[in-house]
Amino acid sequence: MPELPEVETTVAGLRKVLDGEIISRAEAYRADLRWPMPVDLRQRLTGARITGLSRRAKYGLIHTDREDILIFHLGMSGRWRVDPSELEKHDHFVIETGGGRLVALNDPRRFGSLDIMPASQIDAYKSFVGMGPEPLSDVFDAGALQTALKGRAAPIKAMLLNQNIVAGLGNIYVCEALHMSGIAPTAVSATLSKRKLEKLVTSIKEVLTSAIAAGGSTLRDFAAPDGELGYFAKDFLVYGREGQACACGAPVKRRVDSGRSTFYCAKCQR
Ligand SMILES: [Zn+2]
Repeated sequence: MPELPEVETTVAGLRKVLDGEIISRAEAYRADLRWPMPVDLRQRLTGARITGLSRRAKYGLIHTDREDILIFHLGMSGRWRVDPSELEKHDHFVIETGGGRLVALNDPRRFGSLDIMPASQIDAYKSFVGMGPEPLSDVFDAGALQTALKGRAAPIKAMLLNQNIVAGLGNIYVCEALHMSGIAPTAVSATLSKRKLEKLVTSIKEVLTSAIAAGGSTLRDFAAPDGELGYFAKDFLVYGREGQACACGAPVKRRVDSGRSTFYCAKCQR
């Protein structure tokens, strides 16, 4: 499942292909993904020039000179295929450029989404309303996190997954950051000291930055035909490592809350 670093890598890859290009063709091959695609997608995109690409939380944003922003989410299984030799069953949307490049949004499970909004209204996009700060921005620091967690009895892990507290964090990197900062996933949010929160914020930024760097190093290959954006292999300290030894020697444990696995070390994390 793509998390923030995968989306960041995807956007960086798409930028190399799309930035500054005229969209000669934009075509959807079905009416919906997780929800209906805008009916005027083709009309608003065809002939427009792409003026930049960016990311907000786990959403990729493609900006055009018509002051529109195409907003995509990769859901559970979405990826962009670059210059595929032929389209596949699950390629649901394509953008072709005047320069002859083609990118296809492939999403077998269709939990992803595509929307288009005027740039001036982007903050009112339903998923962005009330959303917390970007974890890699300077606004996200221990003070801001402490304020956001004030009076919260919920476990810290649940709070970090809450998009209104901090944007774009998912299960994998929350597990990793909690391990790196030595905080139990079940710790009561409001009771964490400023020092612990400082360590946590540093760890969150560190796990995301190193994953983005790992993703960036895979972009070398994407320019090849049938290049795929969005996924890369990473080494995790605890995620997916139940029963294996933590760096301290104790076995990594797994617990399941509301269907979601948490990987942690009971010895390192308190
Ligand atoms: Zn340990």
